[in-house]
Amino acid sequence: MTDFSDSAEHLDLRAAVREITAAHGPADYAEHARQATPQDGLWSDLAKAGFVVINVPAAYGGGGAGMTELALVAEESAAGGCPMLLLLVSSAIAVEVLARHGSDAQRRQWLPGLADGEIKLAFAITEPDAGSNSHGISTTAVRDGDEWVLRGSKYYISGIDQSAAVLTVARTGTDESTGRARISLFLIPTDAPGLSWTPIEMAAQIPDRQFTVFFDDVRVPAGALVGGEGQGLAPLFDGLNPERIATAAICIGIGRYALATAAGYAATRQVWGAPIGAHQAVAHPLARARIAVEAAALLNAKAAWRHDHGEPAGESANMAKYAAAEAAGAAVDAAIQTHGGNGLAAEYGLVPLWGMARLLRIAPVNQEMVLNYVAQHSLGLPRSY
Ligand SMILES: Cc1cc2nc3c(=O)[nH]c(=O)nc-3n(C[C@H](O)[C@H](O)[C@H](O)COP(=O)(O)OP(=O)(O)OC[C@H]3O[C@@H](n4cnc5c(N)ncnc54)[C@H](O)[C@@H]3O)c2cc1C
Repeated sequence: MTDFSDSAEHLDLRAAVREITAAHGPADYAEHARQATPQDGLWSDLAKAGFVVINVPAAYGGGGAGMTELALVAEESAAGGCPMLLLLVSSAIAVEVLARHGSDAQRRQWLPGLADGEIKLAFAITEPDAGSNSHGISTTAVRDGDEWVLRGSKYYISGIDQSAAVLTVARTGTDESTGRARISLFLIPTDAPGLSWTPIEMAAQIPDRQFTVFFDDVRVPAGALVGGEGQGLAPLFDGLNPERIATAAICIGIGRYALATAAGYAATRQVWGAPIGAHQAVAHPLARARIAVEAAALLNAKAAWRHDHGEPAGESANMAKYAAAEAAGAAVDAAIQTHGGNGLAAEYGLVPLWGMARLLRIAPVNQEMVLNYVAQHSLGLPRSY
Protein backbone atom coordinates (compact mmCIF):
# COMPACT_ATOMS: atom_id res chain seq x y z
CA MET A 1 0.00 0.00 0.00
CA THR A 2 1.28 3.51 -0.79
CA ASP A 3 2.33 5.38 2.32
CA PHE A 4 1.50 9.11 2.09
CA SER A 5 2.68 10.03 5.59
CA ASP A 6 5.73 12.27 6.02
CA SER A 7 8.59 10.57 7.84
CA ALA A 8 9.99 12.24 10.96
CA GLU A 9 13.25 12.84 9.03
CA HIS A 10 11.44 14.61 6.23
CA LEU A 11 9.43 16.75 8.64
CA ASP A 12 12.68 17.70 10.42
CA LEU A 13 14.35 18.49 7.10
CA ARG A 14 11.45 20.69 6.02
CA ALA A 15 11.48 22.51 9.37
CA ALA A 16 15.25 23.05 9.23
CA VAL A 17 15.15 24.47 5.69
CA ARG A 18 12.19 26.67 6.66
CA GLU A 19 14.12 28.07 9.62
CA ILE A 20 17.28 28.77 7.59
CA THR A 21 15.26 30.39 4.78
CA ALA A 22 13.26 32.53 7.20
CA ALA A 23 16.51 34.17 8.35
CA HIS A 24 16.82 35.55 4.80
CA GLY A 25 13.24 35.79 3.58
CA PRO A 26 11.27 37.14 0.63
CA ALA A 27 12.42 40.76 0.97
CA ASP A 28 16.04 39.59 0.71
CA TYR A 29 15.12 37.49 -2.34
CA ALA A 30 13.38 40.45 -4.01
CA GLU A 31 16.41 42.67 -3.40
CA HIS A 32 18.81 40.08 -4.86
CA ALA A 33 16.45 39.65 -7.81
CA ARG A 34 16.36 43.43 -8.35
CA GLN A 35 20.15 43.67 -8.29
CA ALA A 36 20.76 40.37 -10.12
CA THR A 37 23.07 39.14 -7.36
CA PRO A 38 23.01 35.53 -6.13
CA GLN A 39 21.70 34.69 -2.68
CA ASP A 40 25.13 33.65 -1.41
CA GLY A 41 24.17 33.95 2.25
CA LEU A 42 21.26 31.56 1.97
CA TRP A 43 23.25 29.14 -0.21
CA SER A 44 26.07 29.09 2.31
CA ASP A 45 23.70 28.58 5.27
CA LEU A 46 21.94 25.71 3.50
CA ALA A 47 25.34 24.22 2.60
CA LYS A 48 26.58 24.46 6.21
CA ALA A 49 23.57 22.40 7.23
CA GLY A 50 24.50 19.83 4.56
CA PHE A 51 21.48 20.55 2.37
CA VAL A 52 22.72 21.82 -1.01
CA VAL A 53 24.10 18.42 -2.02
CA ILE A 54 22.03 16.30 0.29
CA ASN A 55 21.70 13.97 -2.73
CA VAL A 56 25.45 13.16 -2.86
CA PRO A 57 26.87 9.96 -1.36
CA ALA A 58 28.15 10.42 2.19
CA ALA A 59 31.56 9.07 1.11
CA TYR A 60 32.07 12.34 -0.79
CA GLY A 61 30.81 14.57 2.00
CA GLY A 62 27.20 14.70 0.81
CA GLY A 63 24.05 13.99 2.75
CA GLY A 64 23.77 10.43 1.47
CA ALA A 65 20.10 10.98 0.65
CA GLY A 66 18.41 11.34 -2.75
CA MET A 67 16.39 13.54 -5.05
CA THR A 68 13.41 13.20 -2.73
CA GLU A 69 15.34 15.10 -0.09
CA LEU A 70 16.89 17.62 -2.51
CA ALA A 71 13.36 18.31 -3.77
CA LEU A 72 12.26 19.03 -0.20
CA VAL A 73 15.11 21.54 0.16
CA ALA A 74 14.20 23.21 -3.16
CA GLU A 75 10.51 23.26 -2.27
CA GLU A 76 10.86 24.61 1.27
CA SER A 77 13.32 27.36 0.36
CA ALA A 78 10.95 28.48 -2.41
CA ALA A 79 7.98 28.19 -0.05
CA GLY A 80 9.86 30.58 2.22
CA GLY A 81 9.92 33.10 -0.62
CA CYS A 82 13.47 32.28 -1.81
CA PRO A 83 13.42 30.06 -4.92
CA MET A 84 16.98 29.00 -5.78
CA LEU A 85 17.65 28.39 -9.47
CA LEU A 86 21.10 26.89 -8.87
CA LEU A 87 19.62 24.06 -6.84
CA LEU A 88 18.35 22.72 -10.14
CA VAL A 89 21.47 23.64 -12.15
CA SER A 90 24.30 22.75 -9.77
CA SER A 91 22.81 20.39 -7.17
CA ALA A 92 20.38 18.51 -9.40
CA ILE A 93 21.67 18.09 -12.93
CA ALA A 94 25.42 18.69 -12.62
CA VAL A 95 25.95 16.93 -9.30
CA GLU A 96 23.74 13.95 -10.20
CA VAL A 97 25.68 13.43 -13.46
CA LEU A 98 29.01 13.80 -11.68
CA ALA A 99 28.06 11.52 -8.78
CA ARG A 100 26.71 8.80 -11.06
CA HIS A 101 29.02 9.01 -14.07
CA GLY A 102 32.14 10.90 -13.00
CA SER A 103 35.41 9.01 -12.54
CA ASP A 104 36.59 8.45 -9.01
CA ALA A 105 39.19 11.19 -9.51
CA GLN A 106 36.50 13.65 -10.70
CA ARG A 107 34.25 12.85 -7.77
CA ARG A 108 37.09 13.32 -5.31
CA GLN A 109 38.12 16.56 -6.98
CA TRP A 110 34.71 18.25 -7.09
CA LEU A 111 32.16 16.72 -4.75
CA PRO A 112 33.63 17.69 -1.35
CA GLY A 113 33.75 21.40 -2.32
CA LEU A 114 30.24 21.19 -3.67
CA ALA A 115 29.07 19.62 -0.44
CA ASP A 116 30.72 22.38 1.62
CA GLY A 117 29.02 25.00 -0.52
CA GLU A 118 32.43 26.41 -1.45
CA ILE A 119 31.94 25.75 -5.13
CA LYS A 120 29.07 25.40 -7.58
CA LEU A 121 28.78 23.93 -11.05
CA ALA A 122 27.11 25.46 -14.06
CA PHE A 123 25.55 23.43 -16.84
CA ALA A 124 25.82 24.28 -20.55
CA ILE A 125 23.80 22.66 -23.29
CA THR A 126 21.75 25.45 -24.91
CA GLU A 127 23.20 27.15 -27.99
CA PRO A 128 21.94 30.07 -30.05
CA ASP A 129 21.03 27.68 -32.90
CA ALA A 130 20.15 24.65 -30.77
CA GLY A 131 17.72 25.37 -27.96
CA SER A 132 15.01 22.74 -27.63
CA ASN A 133 16.81 20.61 -30.21
CA SER A 134 19.91 19.53 -28.28
CA HIS A 135 20.83 17.02 -30.97
CA GLY A 136 21.72 19.96 -33.20
CA ILE A 137 24.46 21.43 -31.01
CA SER A 138 27.55 22.65 -32.85
CA THR A 139 30.03 23.20 -30.02
CA THR A 140 32.73 20.64 -30.79
CA ALA A 141 35.32 18.82 -28.74
CA VAL A 142 38.23 17.37 -30.71
CA ARG A 143 40.82 15.02 -29.26
CA ASP A 144 44.42 16.25 -29.53
CA GLY A 145 46.86 13.85 -27.90
CA ASP A 146 46.12 13.77 -24.18
CA GLU A 147 43.81 16.74 -24.41
CA TRP A 148 40.43 17.81 -25.72
CA VAL A 149 39.96 21.11 -27.51
CA LEU A 150 36.52 22.75 -27.29
CA ARG A 151 35.24 25.32 -29.74
CA GLY A 152 31.84 26.97 -29.98
CA SER A 153 29.38 28.92 -27.86
CA LYS A 154 26.47 28.40 -25.49
CA TYR A 155 23.86 30.81 -24.20
CA TYR A 156 21.52 31.30 -21.27
CA ILE A 157 24.07 29.63 -19.04
CA SER A 158 22.99 30.37 -15.48
CA GLY A 159 25.48 31.22 -12.80
CA ILE A 160 28.73 30.46 -14.65
CA ASP A 161 30.11 33.63 -13.02
CA GLN A 162 29.75 31.96 -9.60
CA SER A 163 30.80 28.43 -10.63
CA ALA A 164 34.11 26.61 -10.36
CA ALA A 165 33.41 24.50 -13.43
CA VAL A 166 30.80 24.07 -16.13
CA LEU A 167 29.43 20.70 -17.14
CA THR A 168 29.44 21.14 -20.91
CA VAL A 169 27.65 19.16 -23.59
CA ALA A 170 29.75 19.03 -26.78
CA ARG A 171 29.69 17.28 -30.14
CA THR A 172 32.48 14.72 -30.58
CA GLY A 173 31.11 13.29 -33.82
CA THR A 174 28.00 12.90 -35.93
CA ASP A 175 25.81 9.84 -36.30
CA GLU A 176 25.92 9.36 -40.09
CA SER A 177 22.52 7.66 -40.25
CA THR A 178 20.60 10.35 -38.33
CA GLY A 179 22.79 13.43 -38.68
CA ARG A 180 22.48 13.89 -34.92
CA ALA A 181 25.40 14.87 -32.74
CA ARG A 182 27.34 12.19 -30.93
CA ILE A 183 27.60 13.99 -27.65
CA SER A 184 30.12 13.89 -24.85
CA LEU A 185 30.16 15.62 -21.48
CA PHE A 186 33.09 17.61 -20.10
CA LEU A 187 33.76 19.26 -16.76
CA ILE A 188 35.56 22.47 -17.71
CA PRO A 189 37.11 24.59 -14.95
CA THR A 190 35.85 28.14 -15.38
CA ASP A 191 39.40 29.48 -15.23
CA ALA A 192 40.42 27.42 -18.29
CA PRO A 193 42.22 29.63 -20.86
CA GLY A 194 39.93 30.41 -23.81
CA LEU A 195 36.70 30.21 -21.77
CA SER A 196 34.88 33.51 -21.44
CA TRP A 197 31.35 34.83 -21.00
CA THR A 198 29.24 37.96 -21.31
CA PRO A 199 26.00 38.60 -19.41
CA ILE A 200 22.60 38.53 -21.11
CA GLU A 201 20.55 41.49 -20.03
CA MET A 202 17.40 39.93 -18.58
CA ALA A 203 14.08 41.75 -18.17
CA ALA A 204 12.86 39.11 -15.69
CA GLN A 205 14.36 39.95 -12.32
CA ILE A 206 16.06 36.91 -10.84
CA PRO A 207 19.13 36.68 -8.58
CA ASP A 208 21.25 34.37 -10.76
CA ARG A 209 22.48 35.83 -14.03
CA GLN A 210 22.53 34.24 -17.48
CA PHE A 211 25.48 34.35 -19.86
CA THR A 212 26.60 33.73 -23.40
CA VAL A 213 29.66 31.52 -23.05
CA PHE A 214 32.49 31.27 -25.58
CA PHE A 215 34.83 28.32 -25.99
CA ASP A 216 37.82 29.57 -27.98
CA ASP A 217 40.08 26.52 -28.31
CA VAL A 218 39.60 25.62 -24.66
CA ARG A 219 42.09 22.84 -23.86
CA VAL A 220 41.30 20.40 -21.08
CA PRO A 221 43.04 17.14 -20.12
CA ALA A 222 41.53 13.82 -21.18
CA GLY A 223 40.37 13.41 -17.58
CA ALA A 224 37.81 16.20 -18.05
CA LEU A 225 35.57 13.84 -20.04
CA VAL A 226 32.61 12.62 -17.96
CA GLY A 227 31.46 9.17 -19.09
CA GLY A 228 32.66 7.74 -22.39
CA GLU A 229 33.49 9.54 -25.63
CA GLY A 230 30.29 9.91 -27.65
CA GLN A 231 28.42 8.27 -24.79
CA GLY A 232 27.07 11.45 -23.21
CA LEU A 233 23.36 10.85 -23.80
CA ALA A 234 22.79 8.28 -21.05
CA PRO A 235 24.52 10.33 -18.32
CA LEU A 236 22.74 13.42 -19.57
CA PHE A 237 19.36 11.74 -19.22
CA ASP A 238 20.32 10.66 -15.70
CA GLY A 239 20.71 14.36 -14.95
CA LEU A 240 17.66 15.64 -16.80
CA ASN A 241 15.14 13.87 -14.59
CA PRO A 242 16.66 15.35 -11.40
CA GLU A 243 16.66 18.74 -13.13
CA ARG A 244 12.95 18.42 -13.86
CA ILE A 245 12.23 17.19 -10.33
CA ALA A 246 14.12 20.12 -8.78
CA THR A 247 12.34 22.53 -11.15
CA ALA A 248 8.99 21.11 -10.13
CA ALA A 249 9.94 21.39 -6.45
CA ILE A 250 10.87 25.07 -6.86
CA CYS A 251 7.55 25.68 -8.64
CA ILE A 252 5.60 23.88 -5.92
CA GLY A 253 7.34 26.02 -3.30
CA ILE A 254 6.62 29.22 -5.23
CA GLY A 255 2.98 28.15 -5.48
CA ARG A 256 2.76 27.46 -1.77
CA TYR A 257 4.36 30.79 -0.90
CA ALA A 258 2.12 32.76 -3.26
CA LEU A 259 -1.07 31.07 -2.04
CA ALA A 260 -0.21 31.50 1.64
CA THR A 261 0.53 35.18 1.04
CA ALA A 262 -2.67 35.65 -0.97
CA ALA A 263 -4.81 33.80 1.55
CA GLY A 264 -3.43 35.95 4.36
CA TYR A 265 -4.19 39.10 2.39
CA ALA A 266 -7.67 37.95 1.28
CA ALA A 267 -8.62 37.05 4.84
CA THR A 268 -7.89 40.54 6.15
CA ARG A 269 -8.37 43.02 3.30
CA GLN A 270 -11.86 44.52 3.34
CA VAL A 271 -13.36 46.75 0.68
CA TRP A 272 -17.09 45.91 0.86
CA GLY A 273 -17.46 45.32 4.58
CA ALA A 274 -16.20 41.73 4.50
CA PRO A 275 -12.82 40.17 3.73
CA ILE A 276 -12.29 39.98 -0.05
CA GLY A 277 -11.65 36.24 0.40
CA ALA A 278 -15.39 35.87 1.08
CA HIS A 279 -15.98 36.56 -2.62
CA GLN A 280 -15.79 33.39 -4.67
CA ALA A 281 -14.21 35.32 -7.53
CA VAL A 282 -11.24 35.84 -5.21
CA ALA A 283 -11.33 32.49 -3.40
CA HIS A 284 -11.85 30.13 -6.34
CA PRO A 285 -8.71 30.96 -8.35
CA LEU A 286 -6.70 30.48 -5.16
CA ALA A 287 -8.46 27.19 -4.41
CA ARG A 288 -7.97 25.98 -7.99
CA ALA A 289 -4.28 26.86 -7.81
CA ARG A 290 -3.99 25.06 -4.47
CA ILE A 291 -5.40 21.89 -6.02
CA ALA A 292 -2.98 22.20 -8.93
CA VAL A 293 0.00 22.72 -6.59
CA GLU A 294 -0.96 19.70 -4.47
CA ALA A 295 -1.47 17.51 -7.55
CA ALA A 296 1.96 18.55 -8.85
CA ALA A 297 3.50 17.78 -5.46
CA LEU A 298 2.12 14.23 -5.59
CA LEU A 299 3.47 13.72 -9.11
CA ASN A 300 6.84 15.09 -8.08
CA ALA A 301 7.07 12.84 -5.01
CA LYS A 302 6.45 9.90 -7.33
CA ALA A 303 9.09 11.11 -9.81
CA ALA A 304 11.70 11.57 -7.08
CA TRP A 305 10.87 8.18 -5.55
CA ARG A 306 11.24 6.46 -8.91
CA HIS A 307 14.56 8.19 -9.61
CA ASP A 308 15.90 7.32 -6.15
CA HIS A 309 14.82 3.69 -6.55
CA GLY A 310 16.42 3.28 -9.97
CA GLU A 311 13.03 3.05 -11.73
CA PRO A 312 12.42 4.86 -15.04
CA ALA A 313 11.44 8.37 -13.98
CA GLY A 314 11.19 10.20 -17.31
CA GLU A 315 7.42 10.19 -17.58
CA SER A 316 6.66 11.24 -14.02
CA ALA A 317 9.50 13.81 -13.90
CA ASN A 318 8.28 15.44 -17.11
CA MET A 319 4.67 15.41 -15.95
CA ALA A 320 5.62 16.83 -12.56
CA LYS A 321 7.63 19.63 -14.18
CA TYR A 322 4.74 20.52 -16.48
CA ALA A 323 2.08 20.39 -13.76
CA ALA A 324 4.18 22.31 -11.24
CA ALA A 325 5.19 25.06 -13.67
CA GLU A 326 1.55 25.59 -14.68
CA ALA A 327 0.46 25.52 -11.03
CA ALA A 328 3.11 28.02 -9.94
CA GLY A 329 2.14 30.40 -12.74
CA ALA A 330 -1.54 30.16 -11.83
CA ALA A 331 -0.82 30.58 -8.11
CA VAL A 332 1.36 33.68 -8.51
CA ASP A 333 -1.05 35.22 -11.00
CA ALA A 334 -4.01 34.63 -8.66
CA ALA A 335 -1.99 36.00 -5.75
CA ILE A 336 -1.16 39.18 -7.70
CA GLN A 337 -4.83 39.60 -8.67
CA THR A 338 -5.89 39.07 -5.06
CA HIS A 339 -3.59 41.89 -3.97
CA GLY A 340 -5.11 44.35 -6.46
CA GLY A 341 -2.74 47.26 -7.07
CA ASN A 342 -0.57 46.04 -4.22
CA GLY A 343 0.16 42.90 -6.25
CA LEU A 344 2.40 44.99 -8.47
CA ALA A 345 4.06 46.96 -5.66
CA ALA A 346 7.64 46.16 -4.71
CA GLU A 347 6.59 45.90 -1.05
CA TYR A 348 4.59 42.71 -1.64
CA GLY A 349 7.36 40.92 -3.54
CA LEU A 350 5.08 38.97 -5.88
CA VAL A 351 6.33 40.20 -9.27
CA PRO A 352 9.88 38.79 -8.78
CA LEU A 353 8.29 35.41 -8.04
CA TRP A 354 6.14 35.75 -11.14
CA GLY A 355 9.36 36.23 -13.15
CA MET A 356 10.83 33.03 -11.74
CA ALA A 357 7.60 31.04 -12.19
CA ARG A 358 7.24 32.31 -15.75
CA LEU A 359 10.77 31.38 -16.79
CA LEU A 360 10.32 27.89 -15.39
CA ARG A 361 7.66 27.30 -18.05
CA ILE A 362 10.47 27.78 -20.61
CA ALA A 363 13.59 26.51 -18.82
CA PRO A 364 15.12 24.06 -18.29
CA VAL A 365 12.69 22.49 -20.76
CA ASN A 366 9.73 24.26 -22.29
CA GLN A 367 6.20 23.03 -21.63
CA GLU A 368 5.71 22.13 -25.31
CA MET A 369 8.66 19.72 -25.32
CA VAL A 370 7.15 18.05 -22.24
CA LEU A 371 3.83 17.70 -24.08
CA ASN A 372 5.77 16.23 -27.03
CA TYR A 373 7.34 13.71 -24.66
CA VAL A 374 4.02 12.72 -23.09
CA ALA A 375 2.26 12.49 -26.46
CA GLN A 376 4.99 10.22 -27.79
CA HIS A 377 5.97 8.13 -24.78
CA SER A 378 2.79 8.00 -22.69
CA LEU A 379 0.21 8.03 -25.47
CA GLY A 380 2.19 6.23 -28.17
CA LEU A 381 1.58 8.98 -30.72
CA PRO A 382 4.05 9.56 -33.57
CA ARG A 383 7.06 11.70 -32.74
CA SER A 384 6.08 15.21 -33.82
CA TYR A 385 9.42 16.95 -34.12
C1 LIG B 1 16.51 32.12 -17.10
C2 LIG B 1 17.02 31.00 -17.95
C3 LIG B 1 18.03 30.20 -17.47
C4 LIG B 1 18.56 29.17 -18.28
N1 LIG B 1 19.62 28.44 -17.80
C5 LIG B 1 20.23 27.56 -18.63
C6 LIG B 1 21.42 26.89 -18.21
O1 LIG B 1 21.92 27.08 -17.09
N2 LIG B 1 22.02 26.04 -19.09
C7 LIG B 1 21.52 25.81 -20.34
O2 LIG B 1 22.11 25.02 -21.08
N3 LIG B 1 20.37 26.43 -20.76
C8 LIG B 1 19.73 27.30 -19.94
N4 LIG B 1 18.60 27.97 -20.36
C9 LIG B 1 18.10 27.73 -21.71
C10 LIG B 1 16.79 26.97 -21.73
O3 LIG B 1 17.01 25.63 -21.40
C11 LIG B 1 16.18 27.18 -23.12
O4 LIG B 1 15.76 28.53 -23.19
C12 LIG B 1 15.04 26.25 -23.41
O5 LIG B 1 15.48 24.91 -23.47
C13 LIG B 1 14.34 26.57 -24.73
O6 LIG B 1 15.27 26.76 -25.75
P1 LIG B 1 15.20 28.11 -26.63
O7 LIG B 1 15.15 29.27 -25.70
O8 LIG B 1 16.30 28.07 -27.63
O9 LIG B 1 13.82 28.03 -27.36
P2 LIG B 1 13.53 27.41 -28.80
O10 LIG B 1 14.10 26.06 -28.90
O11 LIG B 1 13.90 28.41 -29.82
O12 LIG B 1 11.96 27.31 -28.74
C14 LIG B 1 11.14 28.48 -28.66
C15 LIG B 1 9.73 28.06 -28.34
O13 LIG B 1 9.21 27.29 -29.43
C16 LIG B 1 8.42 26.23 -28.95
N5 LIG B 1 8.97 24.98 -29.47
C17 LIG B 1 10.27 24.71 -29.82
N6 LIG B 1 10.39 23.47 -30.29
C18 LIG B 1 9.15 22.93 -30.28
C19 LIG B 1 8.60 21.67 -30.67
N7 LIG B 1 9.36 20.69 -31.19
N8 LIG B 1 7.29 21.46 -30.49
C20 LIG B 1 6.49 22.43 -29.96
N9 LIG B 1 6.95 23.63 -29.59
C21 LIG B 1 8.25 23.89 -29.74
C22 LIG B 1 8.40 26.33 -27.44
O14 LIG B 1 7.28 27.08 -27.01
C23 LIG B 1 9.63 27.13 -27.12
O15 LIG B 1 9.49 27.87 -25.91
C24 LIG B 1 18.03 28.95 -19.56
C25 LIG B 1 16.98 29.76 -20.04
C26 LIG B 1 16.48 30.77 -19.26
C27 LIG B 1 15.37 31.63 -19.81
